Amino acid sequence: RAPLIAVERLTKHFAQRRGLFDRTSRAVRAVDGVDLEVAPGETLGLVGESGCGKSTLGRLVLRLIEPTSGHIRFEGREITTLSREQMRPLRRRMQIVFQDPYGALDPRLTIQSAIGEALRVHGLARGVYEERERIAQLLEKVGLRADHMRRYPHEFSGGQRQRIVIARALAVDPRFVVADEPVSALDVSIQAQIVNLLKDLQDELGLSYLFVAHDLAVVRWMSHRVAVMYLGRIVEVASSDAIWETPKHPYTKALLSAVPTPDPGSRRARIVLEGDVPSPLAPPSGCRFHPRCPIAKKGLCDVRDPALEEKRSGHRVACHLAE
Ligand code: SF4
Ligand code: MG
Repeated sequence: RAPLIAVERLTKHFAQRRGLFDRTSRAVRAVDGVDLEVAPGETLGLVGESGCGKSTLGRLVLRLIEPTSGHIRFEGREITTLSREQMRPLRRRMQIVFQDPYGALDPRLTIQSAIGEALRVHGLARGVYEERERIAQLLEKVGLRADHMRRYPHEFSGGQRQRIVIARALAVDPRFVVADEPVSALDVSIQAQIVNLLKDLQDELGLSYLFVAHDLAVVRWMSHRVAVMYLGRIVEVASSDAIWETPKHPYTKALLSAVPTPDPGSRRARIVLEGDVPSPLAPPSGCRFHPRCPIAKKGLCDVRDPALEEKRSGHRVACHLAE
């Protein structure tokens, strides 16, 4: 199947001033040469420690921020160089749901106004009656009641607000949704409801998701495939099962070893990584993971940058020593 969205060598360097009295700047390599694709109806999970570039990548893919270089193709069409004007009709096909359902809604707008605005921006409601009808349907689709539309955001719980944010994203009939840590700000007891809602909506509407998260258990439940990110690079991509059962990259193995399993007998030995994530201002030479990698080989890993290579069908890894 042709991918719905595909990115190639996608890169974002931010300029950062060196200091208060120093006008020169240096490049923060937030996202550095990423290749990814998401098929129609698929969820690609994107995991990695905070600061690895996940959220930046999610915004780049939608062109909410401009890439420094690389390509983005949506529905087979190159969108990297489209103007704002040319992007507008595509905007409704690609939506984003953010982590914070509190910040995402204007406290002064009723739910009806908030969702109605999204409809009007894209010319999707002819008249007040049709608009109200559409909003009622959307609210019911996300498990709320039609009469909720008259209320304000503060009258809802965190989980309900995230349902409203999802309803607003769906109002414009997207095909692709970036969900950036959509449940991280919610109570654990609510998280499963929202994740299951996203799954049900995917089945019903054939949506594709880029699902950004740091909770691996949630990602596994949600995703068909998973991409693991480290310091602006994808270090491993495979089916969700393959990532879980036969991870090949030492970083993936370390991330997974920290996830508690319900069966203590099958618990993986915990791999504790030394040190912090290095700064993307000055990524380490060779393999970026080498200063923290438990199996790094001197003279190889600190010198040569491993490419993301297919080691088995559908399983790509960036590591010199992965079999
Ligand atoms: Fe570790 Fe070397 Fe593989 Fe990088 S290339 S992950 S340093 S073994
Ligand atoms: Mg983030």
